[in-house]
Amino acid sequence: MIIKKIKNHITTKIKRVEIMITVFSGGTGTPKLIQGIKEIYPEEEISVVVNTVENLYMSRGYIAADIDTVMYTFADMIDEEFWYGIKGDTYIVREQLIEMGTTELLRLGDKDRATKLQKAILLEEGWTLSDIVELQKDKLGIKASIIPMSDEESEISIVTKEHGEIEFHDFLIKYQCNCEVLEVKYAHVSPSPKLIETIEKCDKVIFGPSNPITSIRPIISIDGVEDALKEKEVIAVSPFVGKSAFSGPAGQFMNAFGYETSSKGVAELYKTFLNTLVIDNQDEEFKEEIEEIVPNVIVTNTFMKTIEDKINLAKIVLE
Ligand code: GDP
Repeated sequence: MIIKKIKNHITTKIKRVEIMITVFSGGTGTPKLIQGIKEIYPEEEISVVVNTVENLYMSRGYIAADIDTVMYTFADMIDEEFWYGIKGDTYIVREQLIEMGTTELLRLGDKDRATKLQKAILLEEGWTLSDIVELQKDKLGIKASIIPMSDEESEISIVTKEHGEIEFHDFLIKYQCNCEVLEVKYAHVSPSPKLIETIEKCDKVIFGPSNPITSIRPIISIDGVEDALKEKEVIAVSPFVGKSAFSGPAGQFMNAFGYETSSKGVAELYKTFLNTLVIDNQDEEFKEEIEEIVPNVIVTNTFMKTIEDKINLAKIVLE
């Protein structure tokens, strides 16, 4: 049904479709899939619910890294080398700060810093994060809805064997993920005003291949989300191939929660509401085993290197 509507859209280019999709996203794997989706699906029919658990203040800016990555992806501005920041950005402020003896943990470009400073300024003026994102995405000409999972401040920390409890960004940057993870802790937050309504109103929910523990699970843990998902068709793309994540520390985090670091582990984590799991060709041998956990398993190429890879995967999840 959806694919027929996509075809109509592609052939007529003007026909609006009425099927709303909601995508759950972090800041690397899912934005790659979004690049594919937005090529073949009308932007105004897409809502993206974005993880906020890693948000923090730094250098007077409010860093909502996953939200900014999703915004820059829709606006074709994302720096695809890092899946962070704006391509072609300059680093004049950062270089001057270093020159004067101030170092920052994150490498912020000048234009990207403006996005983050504006968030901090408006938060101080009493705006909610949802309203700020609405303003910023409108200014960037984005027609999709971008919904922070929560407007509340969040915290995430990693309990490690070597250094005890450390900040998430220290784990990622200072320690380069080279620690044994014992626990991942994050605070309970309330849903942003449009979160539950967005899931309830859409026809299909797509989990991109984001980190199941630090990007997707924080959204699912919010009151009302899991119940809303149970009423929907939910399809997820696995961020694993074999026993490894395509990139980043997802494997270490899955282990800490007692899940296998594989697509089977992802199936276990999402099994209460998941209808379909998309796994990579290289995991074909595990298809039957995973079908005992979730009703449908699709085997395809999930490695998104080129725009064609992204569009092909997008067609599969929209079908
Ligand atoms: P974060 O917020 O930067 O951690 O980003 P996400 O949570 O959105 O994405 C991280 C996950 O994306 C990792 O677990 C990777 O395994 C996964 N990932 C990155 N690139 C790809 C890809 O091309 N294909 C698939 N299937 N997963 C990917």
